[in-house]
Amino acid sequence: MTLYRKYRPQKFSEITGQNHIKMTLMHEIEEKSIAHAYLFCGPRGIGKTTTARIFAKAVNCLNQKNGEPCTVCDNCRAMQENRAIDLIEIDGASNRRIEEARDLRENVRFLPSVFPYKVYIIDEVHMLTTESFNALLKTLEEPPKHAIFILATTEINKLPKTIVSRCQRFDFSRAGIEDIVKRLSEISQKEKRIISNDGLKRVAKAAGGSFRDAEGILGKLFSLGDDKISDETVDVILPRQSTDQLLKILSGIIQKDARQAILTLNEAIDGGTDAGELLKELIEFSRKLMVLKSAGAQELTEFFDVEIEAEKELITLAEKSTEKQLVKILDNLIIAQGRMKLVDIPQLPLEMAIVELTSE
Ligand SMILES: [Zn+2]
Repeated sequence: MTLYRKYRPQKFSEITGQNHIKMTLMHEIEEKSIAHAYLFCGPRGIGKTTTARIFAKAVNCLNQKNGEPCTVCDNCRAMQENRAIDLIEIDGASNRRIEEARDLRENVRFLPSVFPYKVYIIDEVHMLTTESFNALLKTLEEPPKHAIFILATTEINKLPKTIVSRCQRFDFSRAGIEDIVKRLSEISQKEKRIISNDGLKRVAKAAGGSFRDAEGILGKLFSLGDDKISDETVDVILPRQSTDQLLKILSGIIQKDARQAILTLNEAIDGGTDAGELLKELIEFSRKLMVLKSAGAQELTEFFDVEIEAEKELITLAEKSTEKQLVKILDNLIIAQGRMKLVDIPQLPLEMAIVELTSE
């Protein structure tokens, strides 16, 4: 079983972060002022579906206290063991047929079999077809008393406004590095594994704010290493980009020294660095430079976790560049990123970007 599933929170109190959402939902459950449709939006892997399941459990729990499910009554256990017929989970990405939309409308009318509420969790709801949206909208216009809909999406902009306006909306935020590290460290302890805080930090950073991705990487590390996960094991899964090389490439671009930038780039590739990862880091560094340039050094330390040495170098580079130039660099690097999948020589688009940026 994956760590993400094994350690999936079973109560609101076990969810890391998203405090205002947890408090509002628990309050509504406690006060029995439950809405018929909820919309959970935000990036992937940050607990939208987990929260939806806990909510479904809490509204149906036989011993619900302060909005929390008890996790031990028949109803709670049925849901935890995935055998609750009144909890209907639909994946918007795979349920795209018209018949299923009709099924939904039919199905909603029937009373729940066991639970007080029939709860529909529709994941990736933005992927539904127009027909399904229409069926859903009709249902949301006159929802039966016994039905609760929880719609989850990573792309709120793709949802029809008519649907959004009928839901109580919650915006889930990306998890911070510290929150993820805290959670990874708890899991490591439960699994009786030892891994350095620096290692956990690297995992958290690589996961880009997603608990699911972070726990996926941690699982890989556990499967590779012994009880004690060494920094070398972390290096295998998350190769270190040499900060020196990144800064050298960037400084070559800014000072229009194509030779320095391209030689360093190829040195890095020959040394085993993945061109895509390198480009990702280059974009991240250029972004830091741009923020540094427009907001000042204090912002850099507060928002970005960079090593002190790299910070000094970045400040020097910021002084040598203009905001306009940095936007241009980012522009070109992002274009190169899109092209990378199209060519057989992965570093070629990056080399082209360097030549273009240094030749004006
Ligand atoms: Zn219960």
